[in-house]
Amino acid sequence: MCIFCKIINHEIPSSVVYEDDDVLAILDISQVTRGHTLVMPKKHFANIIEADEETVQKCVSVAKKLAEQIVRNTGASGVNVLTNCGESAGQSVDHLHFHIIPRYDENDAIVIKFRESEQQDLGEVLKTVKG
Ligand code: AMP
Ligand code: ZN
Repeated sequence: MCIFCKIINHEIPSSVVYEDDDVLAILDISQVTRGHTLVMPKKHFANIIEADEETVQKCVSVAKKLAEQIVRNTGASGVNVLTNCGESAGQSVDHLHFHIIPRYDENDAIVIKFRESEQQDLGEVLKTVKG
């Protein structure tokens, strides 16, 4: 059983921020910024691609409400809501989860930067992406 399933089954303790029949939200054990929260479905799916649409929708809906609540209550000035999918994207726990990371200023502990990369032929990229 994966570590988040163990948390959902109360086999491992966690700091519960929100819970309903389908979704659990807990404080991330390593708080990248103060208030860093994880929203996950109670049913196990490896990631956003593997999960069914209804499950993703329920998680996103909770993430939206919690993002609002957390920003309000922490006094953050912004928030990143993101999900990592796959090792190359930085996923370390293979149970779908959305990070809610309140932001306080540009120099806090998280850096999300789009580096300059080589120019792409958008027509060719579009063909590839649309399949
Ligand atoms: P990711 O790298 O996107 O898969 O995120 C996994 C997150 O789970 C990391 O930010 C970890 O700090 C967090 N995490 C791992 N174990 C626990 C735990 N027992 N309780 C709370 N958060 C955890
Ligand atoms: Zn799981």
